[in-house]
Amino acid sequence: MKVVVSDSIGFCHGVRRAVEKAKQCLASCNNVHISGDLVHNRSVCEELEKAGLIVHPDGEIPGSETENSVILIRAHGTDPTTEDELKKKFLRVLDLTCPIVRSVFEQAESLDRENYHIVVLGKKHHPETRALTRRLQEPHVIEDDKDLDHVICLLSSAEGKTALISQTTMSSEKYHNTLAKLRENMGDRVYGFNTICRETLERECEARRLASETDLVVVIGASSSSNTRKLVSTVETAGTAAILVEEVRDLHSVTLPNTVGIISGTSTPMKQVQQILDNIEWAPRR
Ligand code: SF4
Repeated sequence: MKVVVSDSIGFCHGVRRAVEKAKQCLASCNNVHISGDLVHNRSVCEELEKAGLIVHPDGEIPGSETENSVILIRAHGTDPTTEDELKKKFLRVLDLTCPIVRSVFEQAESLDRENYHIVVLGKKHHPETRALTRRLQEPHVIEDDKDLDHVICLLSSAEGKTALISQTTMSSEKYHNTLAKLRENMGDRVYGFNTICRETLERECEARRLASETDLVVVIGASSSSNTRKLVSTVETAGTAAILVEEVRDLHSVTLPNTVGIISGTSTPMKQVQQILDNIEWAPRR
């Protein structure tokens, strides 16, 4: 079997930074808390829990015994109201928001102050989009075509400029199509601010390359990870089959062709990638 491995694989730098800093904090402090997952990967979160991380449900602020504790802010960020509340309750807040996500928040806040109508291309329930939109006066989120039609209907007759920004992990094709449709209906007063992260764009390019060079692309990562699911759909849109694999046992249900591509989401550790690579030779073949 020929296995072609993506040039861009494993953690992106934002996830690597968050995981390393969380581990350092756990090694030196007791009572370290977090609300929700630090990153979207089960094996990473389980490892941190084993090291002592106390995980609360997403969006829930721990209620008691927090004065001597540390709270981590996940890589996707949080909103300012929650951040202020955490600062009041905890001895220390360790902000592990990816610096790129943080810069998108700042750019959106600046556009908001300039009174742009802000349209965010993103998943409504994704933590990054929630943290972003809660900073803005009247954001509009576009997740699907229905939302796009609704926003066009709402803003077509509104005065002033409109800014389109994006959750950092969205597809670039979807971003450009959305911008084109907004401009088609609302003209030059729509300004595009492409805030998709460069690392996810590189993965998208690599996914297309693997789709053209192989018969099946194995995407390693969690189904809860937005950028991992995006890679699956990028490969499929290019006309090649793709499967999402989280663990070695997921390989047992597939029959592999002779040429296989391997790529991962940006929150997948190299350890998990290596486990799949070590076992792929033994998976059933066509
Ligand atoms: S994908 Fe980009 S924006 Fe998201 S955590 Fe990684 S580096 Fe940061």
